[in-house]
Order: sequence, then structure tokens, then C-alpha cells
Amino acid sequence: MQIMKFGGTSLADAERIVQTAELVAERARTCRVGLVVSALAGVTNFLVECRDTALANEDVTARVGRFRDHHVREIERIAQRLPGLDEHGLRRMLSAQVSLLEGWLDGVQKLAVCPDSVSARLLALGEQVSVRIMEQVLLALGQDVLQIDSSDYVITRGSLLEGTPILSELDTRFAALRQSGARIVLMPGFIGRDEQGAMSLLGRNGSDYSAALMAYGVKAELCEIWTDVDGVYSADPRRVPDAQLIPEMSYEEAMELSFFGAKVLHPKTIAPIAMHRIPTLIRNTLN
Ligand code: ASP
Ligand code: MG
Repeated sequence: MQIMKFGGTSLADAERIVQTAELVAERARTCRVGLVVSALAGVTNFLVECRDTALANEDVTARVGRFRDHHVREIERIAQRLPGLDEHGLRRMLSAQVSLLEGWLDGVQKLAVCPDSVSARLLALGEQVSVRIMEQVLLALGQDVLQIDSSDYVITRGSLLEGTPILSELDTRFAALRQSGARIVLMPGFIGRDEQGAMSLLGRNGSDYSAALMAYGVKAELCEIWTDVDGVYSADPRRVPDAQLIPEMSYEEAMELSFFGAKVLHPKTIAPIAMHRIPTLIRNTLN
């Protein structure tokens, strides 16, 4: 099985979402794919704003409306490209998620507190929506896709917003998927749950980490992180125009770079893939 992880920029709008799904479908012709997606671009930051607005006891109606409208617009645009898309099903799913968002924000506003258990559920909404959109896009493309709930697989300890995954749990929980038939196994990034059953997150930008955990669990032959740069550079290419692309590096070098602030990978991503020596590629969806 090969893991492909797509972040927000690969899912920025309808066109990119369909392109991403087509890339995955093409890969699925030659091997099974473990697919991990994050929220659509900007959505998690937006959910943070929603929570903070509710905490400040300000009106959140307009923001909730923007969350809904943004997703409705992209769903409509996808449906224009893919007439087989279950647009009504996706709209119903979105309404249900929006009702949850409204209810939780209302609670936060009234209570003027937002415990981590509630923050985790609020911030996970972006992935909860994007994963269902991706599932339906793949189905509309005629793909054999199984969507799994990452919180049945990624069990964490400690903070609910930046949990520490229990690696031994990954082994047992992912075991069945190593054999299971679906060509594409789709999982939301970022989300897990703790041993008491509360939803937990892997920290901001945690879906790279989710991909690495899935790669570890299914003992993947390859892990690809699809993003908006061609790989790891000698410096941040957005700030240093003549930064050099580094063709290849050891797990140890990659780990050090990300711990010292290279943004290309979530710092904890390397450890699980290094344990099984899984080759990992950074690839550019725009290129
Ligand atoms: N959507 C989450 C975040 O923005 C996780 C991720 O994008 O990797 O932090
Ligand atoms: Mg990221």
C-alpha cells in the first residue's frame, strides 16, 4: 500500500480537489492507496476564529454562514465538473456539520469557556467535511473507496489538542487494512481519540503526522506528502529566492530540520516512518 497525503493547498478549490482525486485514482490503478486529507485551505484557521469570536461573546452567525457558503460553493463547482456527484447527500452532510458547529459555538458563547475537548471537536470539523467531499468525488470517479474514521485507529495520550499517538495501537488497529480489499482507504488527517474516547487532535498541521501514522500502521511501501513546494529546500523558498532543493536526505536530517522549524513537514512526522524505514517523498500538487 502507498500513502498519499494532501494538505489544504491541494484542496483549495473544486478544480484542485478534482485534480487531486484524479491523481489518486491514477495511482490506484497500480497499487492500493491509503489516502489522508486535511481540511480545505484556510478552514481550520477559520474555525479557530469562530471559536475565539464565540469566546469573546461576539456574534458568530456571519462566520458560520461563511463556513457553510464556502463549502457549498465548492461542492456546487465540483458537481458542475462531475455530474455523477451526490451533491444532495453532500449538502445534507454539510448542514448536519454546520448545525453541530452552531450548537457548539452557542454553548461556548453562553458558558464563556471552551475546554480542549470542545476545541478538538470544533477544529476537527474542517477534516470531517473535506473527507466526505473527497469520498464522494472518488465515488463519482468510479473508484473503490473505503472511508475510515481515524479516531478508531489513532489513539492518543495527553493533550486533546496535541495528543501523543500510541504506536502499539496502530499496529493492531491497522492490521486488517493491510489485507482489506478496498483500492483506496481514505482517512481524515489531524483527528484521533484518547483512551477515554474523547476526540483528540495531533496538533496544528497534524495531518502529515496522520499520514506517517497510517504508513506505520499498514507498513506502507511508500509515503507521499503532497504540498505546494517541490520538496525540502536549504531554506524557506518563499523567503530565500535562491534556496536549493535538496534531492535526498536521511530520516535523521529531516527530523532535525523540521524540529528546527522547516515548515515543510510536521516535526513529529518522521519518527514513525523512520521506524519502518518507509521511503517518503515530498511532492508538489501544482507541479
Ligand atoms: N487542518 C489542520 C490544520 O490546519 C491539520 C492540517 O492541515 O494538517 O492544522
Ligand atoms: Mg500542512
